[in-house]
Amino acid sequence: MEAQPRDEKLRVVATLPDLADLARAIGGERIEVETLARPGQNLHAVRVKPSHLVALSKADLFLQVGLSLEHAWVPGLIQTARNREVLPGTDGFVSAGEGFTMIEVPVTLDRGQAVDVHPLGNPHVNLSMNGGLHMAERVRDGLIRVDPEGETVYRAGFETWKRRQDEARLRWSKIAEAIAAQHREACLYHREFDYLLGELGLPIAAFLEPRPGLPPTPSHLADVIETVKTDRIPVVLTAPWSNNKNCAHVARATGASVLELPVMVGGGEGQMTWIDMMDRSIRLIAEAYGVDVEAALAEPVGADKQRASRP
Ligand SMILES: [Zn+2]
Repeated sequence: MEAQPRDEKLRVVATLPDLADLARAIGGERIEVETLARPGQNLHAVRVKPSHLVALSKADLFLQVGLSLEHAWVPGLIQTARNREVLPGTDGFVSAGEGFTMIEVPVTLDRGQAVDVHPLGNPHVNLSMNGGLHMAERVRDGLIRVDPEGETVYRAGFETWKRRQDEARLRWSKIAEAIAAQHREACLYHREFDYLLGELGLPIAAFLEPRPGLPPTPSHLADVIETVKTDRIPVVLTAPWSNNKNCAHVARATGASVLELPVMVGGGEGQMTWIDMMDRSIRLIAEAYGVDVEAALAEPVGADKQRASRP
């Protein structure tokens, strides 16, 4: 079936530039996309602006990651904007992270969790290698639901994006293999990069935040410093919004470096797409662990395993 042309572009509003990038890749000229969060912001605490309400009141489709990532600001925004097309539970409201297999899901509720900004588990799926495809599929399905006449456009846009993603995944697997082969550990400020570090074969030995959203106490920092020294962790990973004085303190006390990574698309130079962002972050992490990225990329996938299994 040929896609029917639209008189007006479909109006999409996304909480994160990552979702906006996926929507543009899939919807192309058929849609226009506005993004609410700005690169460098803490996604758990975005300040709502009048322009957000204006955008939302005219939206045909609303995209959030969900899983409680934006729960401090999106519910109020949706309620105030009073746009029936994008209310939770309608076709126009998409939680792109929904259904993703979450890590760090709390087993029991305790008092401390009242202040925890990850009440359902780790919501930062936009920073997972596996998260991109999961979110892209839900964005595609959301576009088709609110604009069924554009289905062929959206399916073709998705397939083109997926081919680029598959190529990127090949690069990332090669780098991940080289990182994992070193058997090292990671230290980070907030639990943003847990999915990615797991995918790169880097177990996390220390967090500067004792709980997601809670700044470190001096005694907790002393423990972190001990762990970083003992395990010879070369780098403290952090985000642009985190309390980086504490990261610098740990770095000074241990000889580790500090590496600030973007938590959303556009958070660094030349990172206009989700694939670009992941490419750059993965490369930076690898380099911080002393991996020769070019050599790793030149290897066929599974090279180490093949060599190891040869008689
Ligand atoms: Zn978080």
